Amino acid sequence: MSFEDIPVDIGVIYEGERVRTKDMFVELGGPKIEKKFELALAREMDAIEDEKVTIIGPDIKDMEEGTYHPFGMLIEVAGKEIEPDLEGVIERRVHEYVNFVEGMMHLNQRYDIWIRLSKKSFAKGFNSLEYLGKVLIRLFKSEMSIIEQIQVTFITDPEEVSNRYDAAITRYDERDARARGLSDADVDTFYGCSLCQSFAPTHVCTITPQRYANCGAISWFDGRAAARVDPKGPLYEIAKGDTIDDFRGEYTGVDQLYVEKSLGKITTVALYSAFEKPHTSCGCFEAIAFVIPEVDGLGIVHRDFKGETVNGLQFSSMADSTAGGRQVPGFHGISIEYMRSTKFLQVDGGWDRIVWMPVAIRKRVEEFMPEELRDKIPTEEDAMTISDLKAYLKEKNHPVVERWTELEDEDEAAALVEAVQDTGYVGVPGEFTAMIGGAGGGLEIIFKNAKIYAEKVIIRRTGKGEKKK
Ligand code: SF4
Repeated sequence: MSFEDIPVDIGVIYEGERVRTKDMFVELGGPKIEKKFELALAREMDAIEDEKVTIIGPDIKDMEEGTYHPFGMLIEVAGKEIEPDLEGVIERRVHEYVNFVEGMMHLNQRYDIWIRLSKKSFAKGFNSLEYLGKVLIRLFKSEMSIIEQIQVTFITDPEEVSNRYDAAITRYDERDARARGLSDADVDTFYGCSLCQSFAPTHVCTITPQRYANCGAISWFDGRAAARVDPKGPLYEIAKGDTIDDFRGEYTGVDQLYVEKSLGKITTVALYSAFEKPHTSCGCFEAIAFVIPEVDGLGIVHRDFKGETVNGLQFSSMADSTAGGRQVPGFHGISIEYMRSTKFLQVDGGWDRIVWMPVAIRKRVEEFMPEELRDKIPTEEDAMTISDLKAYLKEKNHPVVERWTELEDEDEAAALVEAVQDTGYVGVPGEFTAMIGGAGGGLEIIFKNAKIYAEKVIIRRTGKGEKKK
């Protein structure tokens, strides 16, 4: 495969390269742009023109340095073995291949893509999407032999992106809905994906009918189709093996796979928990389930949420704490589709444990939430501080309030921990007790099976005096 006619280098060494704002020539999609998408579609052979690249709207050379643009990318593929179940997997490869381009950064997936081109690569002559189209076509054809024909369309015209956006969302929804009729108990094979190991070396996504891939782009059906046509590729079968614990989602086959793929770093996973032996989190997750220790609940925040969440931290801060292929109790990468599953964090209490989420997520999953909880889970419109959150949950009699009874003086206890962010965690099995206060009495806090996870702990005097950090 030759890239001699491409003005920048192409190769796996550029994967993981970040293009910072100051180095960026243009940004396509990304958080500043409302509508963006990438979509792969299976077509009949005679419906596409092989290796054709089309650009609808301004090309890179027509864009001003430092600007942000709506963006759509349509990858149409055909071949005897190409079927609609492969669309999700082909689409996900776009992430990898765009990142092979020197000076190009691709993040996220589907309706959430974020692409940057560096000034340096632009100066080297990479000034047209035509080059990107050629790179994608050559990589797809050489890496996925089932693709016999491919055409690529880039859309930068804002109106045209907007016109095509809804159809893309409908297609994603159709793919997601397909796996909903199936349960994890119905199958004896799950699928694994290691595509994100270039960023998170110990990460494997275990894709089951009821636990969608973290990136929200690959369903169990997609995994099955990919493993069938390319068994040596990054998606492969996982034989479930024996069930260790059905409720927790623990299987011998899954554990064995983690040992093998993480080179022994991860030995056991409970698929339906955010706290105990959770599924690993790479960096591509659509959302994070994050512990809010003050109310013993979990908040949810998605990648596009702007600003701080109820705990004072932004998505990006918590993503740093969550990512990297680790199992971080209380900071758990998930897909939005997993929230529609009846297995959703069931070990931790499922929806009964969710205490905060943005309006945008709520709108997308509302019909899958238990009816009795729909007005009990606050959003950014209801609570943006921990004290407001507590008041809201109490007022609505959210089920999590029942969990508070063991803390007799919850206000004082909550004041001990103000911010939670990763620098590692300490797991303490069993029970230990911390005493706060002097000879005249104080506060006793009992920690059961504690997993403490804090960037900063602030201890305040309960009497008069200066605050110490
Ligand atoms: S998030 Fe998971 S399924 Fe998605 S590309 Fe990464 S490893 Fe694969």
